[in-house]
Amino acid sequence: MVNLDKYSSIFIANWKLNGNSSFLKDYYEKLKVNSNNCTIICSPSIYLKSLKGNNENLFCGAQDVSSYKEGAYTGELSASMLKDNNIDFCLVGHSERRQYFAETNDNVNIKSSNLIEENIIPVICIGETLEQKEKNLTEEILSTQIKYSVPNLANHQNALIAYEPVWAIGTGLTASPEQAQEMHKFIRQKFTEKFSESISSNLSIIYGGSVKPSSAKNIFNQPDVDGGLIGGASLNANDFSDIINSI
Ligand code: PEP
Repeated sequence: MVNLDKYSSIFIANWKLNGNSSFLKDYYEKLKVNSNNCTIICSPSIYLKSLKGNNENLFCGAQDVSSYKEGAYTGELSASMLKDNNIDFCLVGHSERRQYFAETNDNVNIKSSNLIEENIIPVICIGETLEQKEKNLTEEILSTQIKYSVPNLANHQNALIAYEPVWAIGTGLTASPEQAQEMHKFIRQKFTEKFSESISSNLSIIYGGSVKPSSAKNIFNQPDVDGGLIGGASLNANDFSDIINSI
């Protein structure tokens, strides 16, 4: 398992359903990683083995994994198959999967456990919708997601949490640095209650939601924000490099 303790920040590119071979070649020629930070590229699965370069701080991540371990489940990829292909990280419970593929907290919990058992670090995504935020349900939603999505075997060394307010994903709206800090602090408190102070204080909680190079520094300088999950802006290698190198 990747040793997260040695990094001051963690940055993840989520390419979603984008990219092709020529995009990849150009991307890895332009990408500039920073040795203080752990950088993870979550490409579509078919390109996972195409990561270029020998940088020891640059890793591959999958965007999803099956909740099944093996068997008659056409189209699925298991955690052990990801491990067999040297994949070190995997997004789980991204809001697009929760919204378009009916993924539940229970699915996220099972997938995360299967990944941890294979020494792959799940990046467990949580966050409230606009409607939930407007009804002042943010804390309740986050508490429920932490309670049911995060498996009991998770800790600061084998799992990552991404706070991604759904209203900020792909919308151009970003949480203010103060809002992000407040929610990350709340999430940390919930981890203290569910696990322990030593796990919560060392847990990496990264922020995602329309981060751009211009907004990166102020968000990632917040004390409880340990890096970012970047969608749209990660498709441009120069913009993603600027974000990684913003702190
Ligand atoms: C994401 O897909 O996780 C994400 C944060 O997307 P965007 O940066 O485009 O809002």
